[in-house]
Amino acid sequence: MVSAGHVDYEDVGLFSTTNSGVGWDGLTFLSPSNSANPYTYAQVTLNNYYTGAYSAAQRRSVAGHELGHVFWLAHESGSVLMNPYTCGANSRWCTYSINTPTGDDVNGINAIY
Ligand SMILES: [Zn+2]
Repeated sequence: MVSAGHVDYEDVGLFSTTNSGVGWDGLTFLSPSNSANPYTYAQVTLNNYYTGAYSAAQRRSVAGHELGHVFWLAHESGSVLMNPYTCGANSRWCTYSINTPTGDDVNGINAIY
């Protein structure tokens, strides 16, 4: 269970897959739902089909973004870790080179916890 100020890490699963049939490089699923707070389980999956071609810094951008979801952060636009897009127009990594939490991301954590 994840609730304000408390994380039981045994309930956070970290996985990898190699799946060319999807468009995502990282995905976080919260159980029972992504809107549940507190939730009981988080599953983070990185897709090696994409991340295998990324630099270590770009993979960190993906992993950091997904871990933001574990801490219940939602998507935001602009130059922030919670920007949902790794590459493309106005994207977290290819546009803004973000792979660590920004002030906005930290403010989000502080607002929740
Ligand atoms: Zn996301």
